[in-house]
Amino acid sequence: MSTVAISRCNDYELEKVNIAIKRCLSLIGNVENLIKPGMKVLLKLNLLSAGLGPEKAVNTHPSVIRALVDILQNDYECKVYIGDSCGSLRIGSTYQAFRITQIDKIAEETGAIIVNFDKDETIDIINDNATIVKNFKIAKTVKSVDVVVSVPKLKTHGLTRYTGAIKNMFGSIPANGKKNVHLMAPKARLMAQALVDVFEMVQPHITIMDAIIGMEGNGPNAGDPRKVGLVIASYDGVALDTVASTIIGYDPMAVPIIRYAYERELGTADIRNINIVGEEINKVSVLDFKKPSSSAQDFASKYIPNFLLAKMFDSSCTSVSSVYEPNCTRCYECIKNCPAKAMSAPNGRVIVDEDKCIGCFCCDEVCNYKAIVMKRSFMGRTFLKMAQFLGVERIQ
Ligand code: SF4
Ligand code: SF4
Repeated sequence: MSTVAISRCNDYELEKVNIAIKRCLSLIGNVENLIKPGMKVLLKLNLLSAGLGPEKAVNTHPSVIRALVDILQNDYECKVYIGDSCGSLRIGSTYQAFRITQIDKIAEETGAIIVNFDKDETIDIINDNATIVKNFKIAKTVKSVDVVVSVPKLKTHGLTRYTGAIKNMFGSIPANGKKNVHLMAPKARLMAQALVDVFEMVQPHITIMDAIIGMEGNGPNAGDPRKVGLVIASYDGVALDTVASTIIGYDPMAVPIIRYAYERELGTADIRNINIVGEEINKVSVLDFKKPSSSAQDFASKYIPNFLLAKMFDSSCTSVSSVYEPNCTRCYECIKNCPAKAMSAPNGRVIVDEDKCIGCFCCDEVCNYKAIVMKRSFMGRTFLKMAQFLGVERIQ
């Protein structure tokens, strides 16, 4: 049976974060059998944004990173690496994400080694079980260290509903590789399968989630910070996502990425078979956590069989991007990051070719000005209105 540890942590004061992480590690148990002195340990962060600071709750918070570096160096005597590839394709953006998350300072003070996955050597991964992504390249460091500790942030996600342990490992793929996966999986349902294909091959040894301040609403970049006040840890990333998504009011089996990972037997999503230790889940839940607009599909999934739902949403409920001009600064970050080349600015103003748009949310992920609006189809709008009318979901 998988164990998930939950520890309260009210804010990002370093000492409190340190205590919460140590408590989680002690609760999941046997960490000393996995991490031994002299080992190389990689902290795989969630650094989506190169432009938004820690107060925006987009990236893994620097206090969590600092506490983990201190614990791994002082208690486990390890050599610590800190790595990721951020969400933007712009040259230098991952370095900028390291700077804005103060990781350069942490590395300078502790001697931890920063690994920019966009600049790292890559290795080829082949997944014979894959549904969508059979071959892909990942940063070599992910496989060359002894232990990988994934450190995701608890957030909603317009495309995948929720992002946590499973989705965080997608960042093992450097820069353009991630955009190629979006092109291979141009529907939300296919993307969830693709993310599970990747997770299957790069599963971390431990996941420690920054759920102290999460992101609600239209995450992962344009939502709002929301206090959850927790650190959550597990050896089983699927079980961790099951517990974390339940805490913020999701039915985990209605979150496709969790359901697919469970069906592929990559971990457990049956909460009755998860040993939850530390805090009681019902005492720490934040059930009015706002869901992204696209969560109307979750509502629909409770009433419509999966095979029918997939057909309906693939054909008529996929969102397309549009630009809310008053918020747009014309930085053109979105155009550089659109894998489908559906965006352009022929007269300065950004426009979207809806016939080319695959609804991948890449533009939304890199826009720091909340200027991207995902337009729902007729069916999407209908389900959203029903969900809001019935009050069954608190949707942004
Ligand atoms: S929509 Fe956002 S990312 Fe695109 S140009 Fe406008 S401000 Fe920049
Ligand atoms: S316009 Fe936005 S949502 Fe549409 S394909 Fe481009 S990046 Fe993806």
